[in-house]
Amino acid sequence: MKITNKQNLPAPLVALLSRNYYSKGASQYSVTELMSPPKIRRLREQYDSEMEIDVTKMIASQLGTFMHGKLEAKEVVGYTNEERIFTEVDGIVISGAIDLQQHVDGGVVIIDYKFVKAWSVKQGKSDWETQLNVYKWLIETVKGVPVKGLQICAIIKDYSAHDTSEGYPEAEAVMIDVPMWDSVKTESFVRQRLEMHRNAKVNHEFGEELQACTDEERWMSETVFAVKREGRKSAIRLFKTIEEATELAEKEKGYVETRKGEPKRCTGDFCGVSKWCKQYQGEINVTA
Ligand code: SF4
Repeated sequence: MKITNKQNLPAPLVALLSRNYYSKGASQYSVTELMSPPKIRRLREQYDSEMEIDVTKMIASQLGTFMHGKLEAKEVVGYTNEERIFTEVDGIVISGAIDLQQHVDGGVVIIDYKFVKAWSVKQGKSDWETQLNVYKWLIETVKGVPVKGLQICAIIKDYSAHDTSEGYPEAEAVMIDVPMWDSVKTESFVRQRLEMHRNAKVNHEFGEELQACTDEERWMSETVFAVKREGRKSAIRLFKTIEEATELAEKEKGYVETRKGEPKRCTGDFCGVSKWCKQYQGEINVTA
């Protein structure tokens, strides 16, 4: 992957941002890789030498990495920082790096730091639940330590004290409890993901079409219906159904604007391979 510097940022900053802090040790799959769509992994491998990323796009993730580094070095009694755990499933090594374990009566509570925007806390992310439950499974099966709770420590990068909308985080950092799965459910999830990745690898080698990314994997936003009025820039209100929107629009003597959901991971090229992805390129060409 080539790193560009289109804003001509100073070399020390570029060098710092370009450093790869991430290590998955000797495993073949990290937990996050296992969770990510097989199509992305295969396309990234195939087009690695052609992929480009501007250094400015690495700032957000690297700030999180720096904070993780600092937190890792901060030792406090009763907590274990950053532990990577390995296991093997059907000959494939899987690893997960657990940010923090709080030692409590009879086990540990797993805590994962997330440096996020407020909308992710408002919406909630199913990925968080999956990731933490795979960590739970690793700790319980590899270390034999019972896990008593799962929590996300969400640090909100764009917090605004003026936003009082429903579900908006109460402060710049909040603790979020995550539901726990039993180990049977988690192990079957892990095996299913491994199978998907294995099949994608074989199919790709034989030139077959890769399994499509799902709406969830593409970060598809919801289609909403905005009630608007001539002469007013912002919407009066947003609705999830056109019926509700039409009812208000009639009362307000306005009109309804449909804001179609979009696959943000594709449109923002957050997967890094959108230009080689037939699934996404096919859609653009149809709508163009
Ligand atoms: S462009 Fe979208 S569909 Fe294609 S690999 Fe990326 S996330 Fe998946």
